[in-house]
Order: sequence, then structure tokens, then C-alpha cells
Amino acid sequence: MHMQDLQDLYVEELRDLYNAEKQLVKALPKMAKKAMHDELKQAFTSHLEETKGHVERLEQIFDKLGKRAGGKTCKAMQGIVEEGKEIMEEDAEPEVIDAALISAGQRAEHYEIAAYGTVRTYAKLLGDEQAAQMLQSTLDEEGAADKKLTELAQSSINLEAQHAQHA
Ligand code: ZN
Ligand code: FE
Ligand code: FE
Repeated sequence: MHMQDLQDLYVEELRDLYNAEKQLVKALPKMAKKAMHDELKQAFTSHLEETKGHVERLEQIFDKLGKRAGGKTCKAMQGIVEEGKEIMEEDAEPEVIDAALISAGQRAEHYEIAAYGTVRTYAKLLGDEQAAQMLQSTLDEEGAADKKLTELAQSSINLEAQHAQHA
């Protein structure tokens, strides 16, 4: 597809995010299931619910643009999810798996944070303040999810992984 202007790039990047979010709707329940710590399970489960909301927000934006949401694969998120799967299949102490799940989750969040920051900025420039606000709301939730994972890593999970073999 020949992209003529920023509006076309905006739609393409929204499609990429839409596919990335849908991949995460599938991956997050598996991550929650694999996690040993209750708090980590809860973090993934509650972010799954938020992620379903992100899909809905994007669908609303596409509706308003009169464009279809599908048709693109986010190869970056495919790679991030694939690496997460590799880690989950490793033979490792459960504490180590939890630390690795946080690492994988934060890779996904940072990708989304970069992408949402960009499309939010495009929406503002293109004069769609409503879309800009919706994208900002999602961006805020991605940021909070990332922060929550950092807190869990720092307060307990990384330390338990560090000493796992002595337990
Ligand atoms: Zn999201
Ligand atoms: Fe992508
Ligand atoms: Fe997310």
C-alpha cells in the first residue's frame, strides 16, 4: 500500500497495534497460568482485562475513521511473544520462571508504550482530540502495568529468583 501522508501512516500503525493487542489477549492468560506468585498472576489477569479494553478503544477509533481494523500482523509482538514462550518452556525453578515472565511482560509493555506514544502524537497533530485522549488512556494503563511489574520484581520476585536454588 502506498502511504500518501501522516494520516495513512497513522492508520497503518493503529492496525499494527490492534494486532499486537490481540496477540496479547491470547498470551496473557498463558502467562497468568504459568506464574507462581499470586500477585504476578493477578497483575497479568488484570492487565488482560485492560488489554481487552485497549482492543475496544482501537475498534472505536477505526469505526470513527471508517477504516477496517484488521489485515496487519505485528511481527515485533510475534517475536516478543515467541521469546516469552521459549522461556516458559525452559526447565527452571518456578521463582526463575516468574522473574522471566516479568522480563517478557515488560518487553511487551515497552513496545506498546513506544507505539501508543507515537499514535497519540499523530492523533493530536491530525486534529482528532478524542482519539488522542483514548490513546493516552491506553498509554497510561500500559505505563501502570509496566510499573507494577517493576514493583513486583524489585520487592520480591527477582530476589527470590536470585536465591531460588538455596530454598
Ligand atoms: Zn495494551
Ligand atoms: Fe508492530
Ligand atoms: Fe499492555
